[in-house]
Amino acid sequence: MNPSRGAAFIEREASVTLPWTEMAEAGLIPQGGTAARVKTGAWRTGSMPVLELSRCIHCLRCWIWCPDSAVLLDGEKVTGIDYDHCKGCGICAQVCPPKVHAIEMVPEGGEA
Ligand code: SF4
Ligand code: SF4
Repeated sequence: MNPSRGAAFIEREASVTLPWTEMAEAGLIPQGGTAARVKTGAWRTGSMPVLELSRCIHCLRCWIWCPDSAVLLDGEKVTGIDYDHCKGCGICAQVCPPKVHAIEMVPEGGEA
């Protein structure tokens, strides 16, 4: 093995020569509901959605499309954004009807 390579590379290189029965287990999900405990909002870079509730017609398109379930509801009404889990992808702003335009993506820490 090349000693100038990182430890992770060396470990991976070694593991591919092993039969699968001897490889380390990985990617185990011990129980359901663990995703909610991971604050994916910490990964957000660049921009964040700002919801203008007075414009919202509660069509729920943003809620349906949000990949992180970060659009908050009370019954069938949108109430806000869960910034602990919002990754700032901007899909909600894209799917909000253009005539409504209730969600604006703004620079992180900025204002709409
Ligand atoms: S920016 Fe992306 S992750 Fe955040 S609320 Fe909108 S759709 Fe969800
Ligand atoms: S897509 Fe726009 S109008 Fe529809 S619920 Fe979401 S914020 Fe409101």
